[in-house]
This record gives sequence, structure tokens and C-alpha cells, in this order.
Amino acid sequence: MKLSPFLKVDTPTSFRDHPGVHSILFYTDINLCNLNCFQCHNRYFFSKLGNTEFMNYEELSQKLSMAKLLGVELVIVSGGEPTLEPNLEEGLSFVKERGFPIRLDTNGTNPKKLEKLIKNRLIDGIALDVKIPLLDEYTPNQKKRFKRILFSEEEVSDRALLEYTKHVEITINLIMKYSLPFTILRTVEYPLLTGEDKSLISESVKSLPHQFNPFYPVEE
Ligand code: SF4
Repeated sequence: MKLSPFLKVDTPTSFRDHPGVHSILFYTDINLCNLNCFQCHNRYFFSKLGNTEFMNYEELSQKLSMAKLLGVELVIVSGGEPTLEPNLEEGLSFVKERGFPIRLDTNGTNPKKLEKLIKNRLIDGIALDVKIPLLDEYTPNQKKRFKRILFSEEEVSDRALLEYTKHVEITINLIMKYSLPFTILRTVEYPLLTGEDKSLISESVKSLPHQFNPFYPVEE
């Protein structure tokens, strides 16, 4: 049986992942991501599980039938960075054909792929992580801190930082253009973010639903 793009992992359904909506969470390849954020929680979670197998389509079908019985209203697809997954469209179509709306969780760096998914009606919402203030230029101190947040190191080119900003801004414009129902913007309260950084982030997303999430350090 063909493998789906979603990892084989048991996650409980919840009303927390999308506030007030009964949802179930699927993950694409956890290591397939173009960022390497400071203490990435998803990677940590999977390193503890020690399992990186994918569900086949029969297993996915069973899981979705069970979700239907439990009254799940929304499928959330997280990663890794799901837009980098080559078989994503096929997996999303499979889920949509079974009647579930889908929210895609993204770091916002692949707006072209996101727009294609929206136009093909494969997603019904986007959870976008806005990790740093979106500015045209950064001070040396900001560069150091923001590179550590996005790449876990400071020895990354300034270009990579500005590319991140440019792509996330395009993604925000897409979110405003299409106004999908299950959309939310989030910022992890990394300890490296100052109060001023958080104000700047709030300012750049003020017309959209946005929340700050507490940072829980991963244990090593
Ligand atoms: S974008 Fe998400 S999955 Fe990728 S490194 Fe950052 S926190 Fe982890």
C-alpha cells in the first residue's frame, strides 16, 4: 500500500490546537524544514518518540474514519515545513475527499506553494508562525538574535534573514487576500525576543488574528 505524506504517530484530538474547534493533528516529515529554529519543539517531540514511519493510505483512511466518529471538525497538517513535502497535494486531496477542512501550519517561507494550495481548494486555513519582527533592515544586535531564533546560529548570511522576512510578508498578503476561515498567526515567545520586538510583531500583523504562545524550553 502506498505511503501517505503523514507520519505514523498517535496524537490526541483536541480543542486547543485551533481554539474552540475539535481538531486532529497530522505531521509531515519532521526533518524536512528550511529553518532550524531555536529549540524546535516538533523535532524534540519526535526525537523522543523515535518513530519516523509514514502512514499508508489504508491507515490514514482508518484514522480519518475514527476522527469522523469522534466528531473531529478540522484536520491540522504540521511538520517540518509541510509545503516542502513533495506528495503533500495527494495527501491533502485524500483528506478533503473525506469531508474534512484542513489548516496548514507553515513557517511562511514558501508563499508560491501556499497560493497554489489555496487556488486548488486544498486548504481552508493557514497557521503562520511570525517568528521575528518583519523589517526592511535589522541592526547588528537584531541580526544576531533573530538568526539564533530562525537558524540556531549567528553565522548565517544577512540575505537568509531578509529572504525569510520577504517571504513571510508575501504570505501575510496572501492570507489577507484570500481570508480563509481557519487562519491564525502565532509567535512563540522565544526568550531572545525583547518587549520591543513583540510590539513590532504585533504592529505588523495588527489586522489579523494573532497570538503569542509561551516558550517551553526543551530538556536536553
Ligand atoms: S519552522 Fe517549525 S519545524 Fe521548522 S525548525 Fe522552525 S519550529 Fe521547527
